[in-house]
Amino acid sequence: MQVPFSKPFLRGHEGARVAETIATGWVSQGPRVREFETAFAERVGALDAVATTNCTTALQLALYVLGVGPGDEVIVPSLSFIATANSVWQNGATPVFADVDPRTYNIDPQAIEPLITSRTKAIMPVHQLGLPADMDPILALAERHGLAVVEDAACAIGAEYRGRRIGSLGPLACFSLHPRKVITTGEGGMIAVNDPAIAARLRTLRQHAMDVSDLARHGAKDVIIESYPERGWNHRMTDMQATLGLCQLEDLEFIRDERRRLADRYTAALAGIPSIEPPFDPDYADRTWQSYAVRLVDGAPDRDTLMRLLLQDGVPTRRGVMAIHEEAAYADTQAVLPATEDVTRNTLMLPLFAGLTDAEQDHVIERLAAHVAAAVAA
Ligand SMILES: *Cc1c(COP(=O)(O)O)cnc(C)c1O
Repeated sequence: MQVPFSKPFLRGHEGARVAETIATGWVSQGPRVREFETAFAERVGALDAVATTNCTTALQLALYVLGVGPGDEVIVPSLSFIATANSVWQNGATPVFADVDPRTYNIDPQAIEPLITSRTKAIMPVHQLGLPADMDPILALAERHGLAVVEDAACAIGAEYRGRRIGSLGPLACFSLHPRKVITTGEGGMIAVNDPAIAARLRTLRQHAMDVSDLARHGAKDVIIESYPERGWNHRMTDMQATLGLCQLEDLEFIRDERRRLADRYTAALAGIPSIEPPFDPDYADRTWQSYAVRLVDGAPDRDTLMRLLLQDGVPTRRGVMAIHEEAAYADTQAVLPATEDVTRNTLMLPLFAGLTDAEQDHVIERLAAHVAAAVAA
């Protein structure tokens, strides 16, 4: 049996809906993008949402709009996809890596305060793998020190922190719509915004800071000569992507429920497999299960060997979340982060997506159990 690692959930009607959009003649950012933004904001409990080309550009723009620039420092976890740090660098600022809570794999609020300097401008918590970071102490710390907060919510659409939706907590939360995330537009990002003035500025910054949108100009009764009060970028989503996004939003609850059901099945099965720990589930959060990462503890086989053996059995896995500070790209930071280094080395992700069948999942569990038993016996 060959099990896929991950697949976007598509019902088959999406192509026809995108074709309808194409038939309108409006294919770049227009009415469908606006519709998608409104529906997205409503789903994540935000006042508004601004679409972008991907989550990395969303993070870059969110930091920029809050004033992050050259000479500034932004405190981020190293245990994250490299895009988290790259978005800081793209603004000419420096990422400063904080260690994570070894149970949640999210930035440790206690590790943040000692890293604050006169240059610190913002904190960027990541809701890793769809599990919200412990936001109350982070927001309190930011307020006390006058720091901005941008949430990297790439994996966390639909997640909740103490009953509050991710997207409603802080000023700006950035979501990814890449196929490896919970819902997708192929490529795409979204900034959940809770301040109307910031939303308006983000809308201009993502289209060269032009003071009039294509949509507004198209509907105008008079000639419009646009102007450019500041410098900006082209981070526009297309109406074709937004149409796919609207289809995906309609399926979000099903996708979430299905991922949770499969995660619960894994967790139940792991109770019978020694040396492999399921993800920690803190009571403050309702996560989205973007990925299912298990931890190898005493007696487990070597992680990379186990991944290779599983792959030969038709079970692809992925290493745990990377540690950005261990990559050559960020080696100059010379950070030492014991929890991060331990987690990145001893975790791996099992196949998890809406559409994974119980038979496929049983095969994953059975092969995992067999290889662990062989290692324990050896
Ligand atoms: C995927 C991911 C990103 C980048 O998202 P893109 O849409 O691919 O730019 C950023 N941060 C985290 C934590 C991610 O998992």
